[in-house]
Amino acid sequence: MPKLDGKVAVITGASSGIGEATAEALAAEGASVVVAARREDRLADLSNRIEEGGGRVLAASCDVTDEGQAHGLIRKAEEEFGRVDILVNNAGVMLLSSVGKGLSDEWRRMFDVNVLGLLYTTDAAIETMKRQGGGHLVNISSVAGRKVTRDSSGVYAGSKFAVGAISEGLRQELLQDNIRVTIVEPGAVATELADHITDEDARESLGGLLNLEILQAEDIANAIVYAVTQPERVSVNEILIRPTQQP
Ligand code: NDP
Repeated sequence: MPKLDGKVAVITGASSGIGEATAEALAAEGASVVVAARREDRLADLSNRIEEGGGRVLAASCDVTDEGQAHGLIRKAEEEFGRVDILVNNAGVMLLSSVGKGLSDEWRRMFDVNVLGLLYTTDAAIETMKRQGGGHLVNISSVAGRKVTRDSSGVYAGSKFAVGAISEGLRQELLQDNIRVTIVEPGAVATELADHITDEDARESLGGLLNLEILQAEDIANAIVYAVTQPERVSVNEILIRPTQQP
């Protein structure tokens, strides 16, 4: 029997990359999935694929930086499927640049999406999960959430260090409520993430890393499936996963 039969998972940032692969992987394990992002056409394609494979899916347009929309997402999931067992806080942006170039709009976007967006959806989901008697929060951080490795990544790393601190705080706050918290810290993964970088120097400094054999989105999805399919007594707190050749 699929390991997540009867479970409901909400995945933010499901219109591409890691979120998309995670939605497919959780659906393949039997979970009903709510796929959320801003690009509705991409969510529609993903939903069709999941349904064609026999899965249950709801596409929900959601900008996680809007607190009302983030709460609405969890509400919609509960209305459609009756509960929320797993929330994968995956939506994120990586607008690498060095400070001193006046790119404050990009810093704000990173903290709005990577940190506040995660908090808004989590805030809403905790209420539901406590009422149900348990749940699982999976927060996607980065190797950059443990270590600052290049001069253009300080602000992005700051947002991901915040994800680490918030996740550990949540773990301690929620353990009595049977809500597990897992933080996943990928190294370089082949997705659209780097395409949005506007600072040419930052883009160039990433080049070497992207020339290695980097991870595929499915590699991270597999790690998430591992964490959420453990017995309830097992809380996988942290998964750090790099391409073999990444320094
Ligand atoms: P993608 O760019 O492919 O995916 C990012 C997702 O976030 C998209 O689905 C995008 O959807 C969504 N998103 C962005 N802004 C918002 C918003 N305001 N509201 C809702 N959704 C939003 O990149 P990845 O799959 O690589 O990124 C997923 C996560 O993995 C991020 O948190 C990233 O920091 C992390 N990560 C990625 C690594 C990599 O090398 N790729 C390494 C380490 C961590 P839409 O634009 O449709 O809203």
